[in-house]
Amino acid sequence: MFSRLRRQLDKFGSPALDWVQVEVTTYCNGSCVYCPHTLMQNSWANRHMTLELFNQLTPFLRHVDLVYLQGWGEPLLNTDFFEMVRICRNLGRRVGFTTNGVLLSEETMQMFVELQVDIVAVSLAGTTAGTHNQIRKGTDFDQVISNLERLRQIKDDRNSPFPAVHIAYLMLKSNFDELKKVLPLARRVAASQIVASNLTLIIDSKFSEEAIFCQIDRTDDYRNMLEEIKDRANLEGIIFDFHGPGLEATPSVCRENVRRACVINVDGEVVPCVLTNPILSSDYIFEGRSVPITAFSFGNIQDESLTRIWNNKEYADFRNLFDIKLGGMQSDMPQCCVACYKRLGA
Ligand code: SF4
Ligand code: SF4
Repeated sequence: MFSRLRRQLDKFGSPALDWVQVEVTTYCNGSCVYCPHTLMQNSWANRHMTLELFNQLTPFLRHVDLVYLQGWGEPLLNTDFFEMVRICRNLGRRVGFTTNGVLLSEETMQMFVELQVDIVAVSLAGTTAGTHNQIRKGTDFDQVISNLERLRQIKDDRNSPFPAVHIAYLMLKSNFDELKKVLPLARRVAASQIVASNLTLIIDSKFSEEAIFCQIDRTDDYRNMLEEIKDRANLEGIIFDFHGPGLEATPSVCRENVRRACVINVDGEVVPCVLTNPILSSDYIFEGRSVPITAFSFGNIQDESLTRIWNNKEYADFRNLFDIKLGGMQSDMPQCCVACYKRLGA
């Protein structure tokens, strides 16, 4: 009785966040060569978030700008996906997600427009089939692009700006030059934004060579090309954002928006970023050495409201480590943050 009342009251004090990322599934139909889902397949726990669990979260999203339905998996595989979108839209929340693009059927894309999904980001790792398909195994570049062309047509036919299409491009040494062709591709599918990001969680040491921020000697070449693409994109009204490519000397700046966003994993655990998600196990490579993943959670929405978890002292102290004004100390950070390329701006 008392706990029910407390939960009711907690709705009113729910945190004002830029976004909450919700891992609606850990199943995936892709086998991207660098992804923990592929590389940890022997110990991977496949499951979908239930609608019941999702509903435990949503009352605490009153002051959240964007609900991003995304974790380590392909969101469209969860058969409750559109119900989750509908719940968020009914609450007046913006909704987005990232997909590998394989399941973009006619019916699915019509639903995006119908439900006014705000953002559909599609992952690419090349601008040619030969390169993309080698890296993002289990997905087919030509099929993904043709799906997106159809989505563009559906939006035109229904005179709808929804959803905005974003391209999420994973930059590797082997596909970097193909970024030169990303703008024509974005025009072709009417993408309004491109985000070029680095491989920041390296599970297999052979991918250390692929991560461009490790190539210190070529950092300026990379940066020059990225700046050039950004300038051209700007002229075309396309937002081009990129991470890195070099690592920063500043020790306490995390690429993730940990002070105004959080991740809810498939089991309801509240974590600051996808890299601390307890679904991950095994070791990863940081600066050439093997480091165990130290996943942790600040609470579970099955036990407590998001409001209480967000406001607990341990979580507040953690966030303060990333407040430059408070001078967060690297020595106070958990090991996963000390040994993290995202903290170094990647
Ligand atoms: S589609 Fe996403 S979750 Fe699936 S294997 Fe590729 S990167 Fe991993
Ligand atoms: S530093 Fe890395 S592990 Fe720590 S919160 Fe940021 S992204 Fe996550």
